[in-house]
Formats: sequence, structure tokens, C-alpha cells
Amino acid sequence: MTKTSIYHITYYDYDKSAYVQFLSCNFRCLGCIRRKLLWDHHLEDIGRDFRIELIEVEKLAEILNIVDKEFGLKRAVLGGGEPTADPSFCNIMKILHDLGLEVSILTNGYLLDKVLKCIHREDTLEISIKSIWPEKYAMYTGRKASDLNKVLNNIENAFKQGYKVIIETILIPEFNDVNDVEEVAKFIATHLNTSTPLIIDEYIPVPTAPWRRPTYEELVEAKQRAEKHLKNVILRSSYTMKPKGKVHPIFPKNTVNMP
Ligand code: SF4
Repeated sequence: MTKTSIYHITYYDYDKSAYVQFLSCNFRCLGCIRRKLLWDHHLEDIGRDFRIELIEVEKLAEILNIVDKEFGLKRAVLGGGEPTADPSFCNIMKILHDLGLEVSILTNGYLLDKVLKCIHREDTLEISIKSIWPEKYAMYTGRKASDLNKVLNNIENAFKQGYKVIIETILIPEFNDVNDVEEVAKFIATHLNTSTPLIIDEYIPVPTAPWRRPTYEELVEAKQRAEKHLKNVILRSSYTMKPKGKVHPIFPKNTVNMP
């Protein structure tokens, strides 16, 4: 049996996708949502008594095969946690590709150069830039300031090699504010191209960090500033986004009836 750090899987019926979450991460972000809740926060009536159990590669294949046969599975989204930090990442990708799934990988980008060979050009890489400034980046992620450079180089290399790249950043008032988001947009326009999508996420306050949630007006301003440089800027905000369909727990346990 081959171990993974996958501990949680949820199923989204609106697009027939499985959200596969990894427990470990090579960063220690101050604003990480997992400091608030380890389980998928889209679940209704979250069972806080879930016990953490890690899945083996073989079990992942078994679970996804069952979900596919019974309910249909088109996509897999890998997040967490950091998917690329899992020593079994390439085995996991093979399972997902064998199932014919569209795969999206949510990543901090630090290890991308090591795992790019296991990723198909049809897959999507959603890479986060926590801050475009090295000192802030180090303070937020618990990494070295020079690690930002490695992440930015990995992004550029993946893009140049023809991978589908989406950049994500979080609007955090007084930390990664509208000016900083505009700098991220400038980086994308200069080093990738102006059609590369930029997702601006709303910061959700966590107990261990001092920042507040941005207002809707601040989010709109960040989007407008980014749009001065990019054609495809997307706001992901609880002010405007409505939940789509139902979200079902698949692992560790199925506490609701599947569709
Ligand atoms: S890289 Fe992502 S999962 Fe890891 S600590 Fe940062 S926000 Fe959390």
C-alpha cells in the first residue's frame, strides 16, 4: 500500500467534481483558512468529530471509481494542504488521468519544478502568490524571502512550457491590499501574458491573524486596478457568490445521502 497525505474528499454535484484535500503543507501561512477549519467549509452541518485518517493511493482509486460509477465524476480538484508536497503526487495524478478526469491543482508553486513531469498540459494549475514583495511573502508564509523568487520562476517556466496557469491572490486589507494586487497583475502581464486569468480571493479572517475581511468596495477596486493590466480578472467573494448545488462528504465518512 502506498501512503498519501490525503485526508478529506468531498463531492460537488453541480459540476460532478471531487475536491481532494492533502493534510501536509510546506508553508505556514498566517492567513491559511485551515487555521479556522480543517474540513471543507462548504459542507453543511460539518461533523467536527471527523477523525483524521490518511488514504493510501489504492484506496483513493477505489473511492473515486465508486463515485464515478454511482454518481458520475468529471473533475478532480487537488488542494488542502499542498498537493505537490505529497511524495505520492505522481501516483495520484496517474490515477486521476487514468480515470479521464479534468484535474485542477491548487498550489503554492514552490515544488512545481519537481512535479511538472506528472502534470498534463490539459490540467489546470492555480498558483497562489501570497504577496509580490519578498519580505511580506516571508512573513506571511514562514518561508525565506528568496523563496518568492523560486515560486515566480516556477510560474514563468510552467507558462512558457505551455501549461494552463491561473494565478490567485488574496485581498488582505493592510497586508496584500489593492496596490499589491495591482503589482501582481503587472507581474502577470509582464512575465506571462495579459490573457492569463487572475483570481482575487476575499480574505476570510482566521483566529491567529490580525487582519479584517475586505469590504465589497475594496474587492471591486482591486479588480478594477488589476483590469488595467489584465483581460481576465475574477473576484471570488462571499458577497457575490452563491453556493452551487450540494456538497457531500465522501471521506472520512459519508454522513449524508448522496444524490
Ligand atoms: S500554502 Fe495554502 S495550505 Fe499551505 S499554509 Fe499556505 S494557505 Fe495554507
